[in-house]
Amino acid sequence: MTNKLSQAHLKSAASTEVIIEIEKMNKWYGAFHVLKDIDLTVHKGERIVVCGPSGSGKSTLIRCINALEEHQEGDIIVDGIKLGKNLKNLEHIRTEVGMVFQNFNLFPHMSILENLTLGPIWTRKMSKSEAIETAMTYLERVKIPEQADKYPGQLSGGQQQRVAIARSLCMNPKIMLFDEPTSALDPEMIKEVLDVMVDLADTGMTMIVVTHEMGFARTIADEVIFMDAGDIVERNNPEAFFENPEHERTQQFLSQIL
Ligand code: ADP
Ligand code: MG
Repeated sequence: MTNKLSQAHLKSAASTEVIIEIEKMNKWYGAFHVLKDIDLTVHKGERIVVCGPSGSGKSTLIRCINALEEHQEGDIIVDGIKLGKNLKNLEHIRTEVGMVFQNFNLFPHMSILENLTLGPIWTRKMSKSEAIETAMTYLERVKIPEQADKYPGQLSGGQQQRVAIARSLCMNPKIMLFDEPTSALDPEMIKEVLDVMVDLADTGMTMIVVTHEMGFARTIADEVIFMDAGDIVERNNPEAFFENPEHERTQQFLSQIL
């Protein structure tokens, strides 16, 4: 790969300030124990890549962090707020934590510009003109300002995912979560989305990214986490993680995807 992804590892912006703290967190779907005693500390500006086999609980973990899923035991503290049933907290969390999904999740009946201005106008109480200005700034950042008046169905997958990233950024989140953002894309579109994410990492955004794009992990990750069957099996800086994975399950997984 050329340019961004072949750069040396991006300098970390991680600070000592903790922005996500997960302690002894357990989650069940009915009788199925999906997340087991999860401990995870994320500092402001830190970039975490999460990988692991299908069904290991990666999506569930990040969905718990923005309270799209409830956990049953242990604590999740995000931006100083303990997640629970308090609805006001939920609203705060959803505003501060942006999420990008595998399938873009844009509103198909709204133009790109309307997709980007909806949240800021209704949740951030921005004026329409300010919301449009913000939207155009982020569309320029993801390099598709000329698509503003189109509808999602008129864009390629890569363009739609860049819109989805821009839409999250319009809310000015403190944390961005990505759930396999490139796995629904044709190969030639993966790089344009990863490049936008590398740029975002460069701005110092706190990011948790579920992905199997290991070149991307090497470029931006401060820490790579490997999950299997609801456990965090291994975590390390990318160099050690890829060169010397400790656990057999990690070695096996890496031998399958690399
Ligand atoms: P991953 O993202 O690593 O593929 P998921 O977090 O999506 O894994 O799922 C972990 C496990 O939980 C899987 O076995 C999956 O079938 C199960 N699961 C996911 N969502 C639900 C749900 N809403 N209800 C019941 N089981 C679920
Ligand atoms: Mg998943």
